[in-house]
Amino acid sequence: MKKIIIGENIVKSFGEGNEKLQVLDGISVEINEGEFIAVMGPSGSGKSTLMFALSGMDGVDGGKVHFDGKDLSVFKENELADLRRTKMGFVFQQPTLLKNLSILDNIILPSMRDNRKNVTVINEKAKTLMKKVGIAGLERRDITQVSGGQLQRAGICRALMSNPKIIFGDEPTGALNSKSAQDIMDIFTDINREGTAVMLVTHDAKIAARTERILFMCDGKIVSEMRLQKFHGTDMDDRIKKVTAKLQEIGI
Ligand code: ADP
Ligand code: MG
Repeated sequence: MKKIIIGENIVKSFGEGNEKLQVLDGISVEINEGEFIAVMGPSGSGKSTLMFALSGMDGVDGGKVHFDGKDLSVFKENELADLRRTKMGFVFQQPTLLKNLSILDNIILPSMRDNRKNVTVINEKAKTLMKKVGIAGLERRDITQVSGGQLQRAGICRALMSNPKIIFGDEPTGALNSKSAQDIMDIFTDINREGTAVMLVTHDAKIAARTERILFMCDGKIVSEMRLQKFHGTDMDDRIKKVTAKLQEIGI
């Protein structure tokens, strides 16, 4: 199986001297192309920092990250930004959409930076994605005129515009009620079925149980890992029980 990301012995700290805080303590992780992964762990255990390190959003102090076969440490800042824009998608707990821009304009904004692309094609692609995630018809709405779940769907469309190899979601369902959260997970599942790798940070066993591999983090280390059958069927209750038991076992 081809690896999309290989992280080897990643070390990362913040601060200096007495204030120094080691946040990633020698993490090694490999992500296959098309894999569906969840990361769980207590607040402050380093989940977001790990995602930033794996995506080259933030540098590391030790170890290496390879993305799509390339060592991220040799990239210049603008090359990293290009790589993120073309190969990765990001979805956060609160979608970082701009006020005073319509939903459609927010979705196409990052793509407009690539002037080799045709505006009509970009618009059509955005509309197709909006339809796919269930927000067709909201193109002209302001971001204050839609629900949290709709906003998150718009954020997902924006992340998908470049046909990324991987989508990183940092607690993407954290601000949603459980129905909306499961709806968003249906969308991530569809995206993953079509071949895009998805890596999600979540505190929710019901969310993590829908992925195929769960990394459990504590104090900057991956302390445990769980594999599940890819794509759940009628076994959802069993999967959730398994994840909950694991969380209890390792005291998260
Ligand atoms: P998690 O996502 O698991 O809640 P984070 O990766 O956000 O944890 O943070 C891990 C630790 O690193 C926390 O103690 C946090 O305060 C600290 N931290 C994260 N980012 C920074 C930063 N830019 N500067 C200083 N400390 C940071
Ligand atoms: Mg976090």
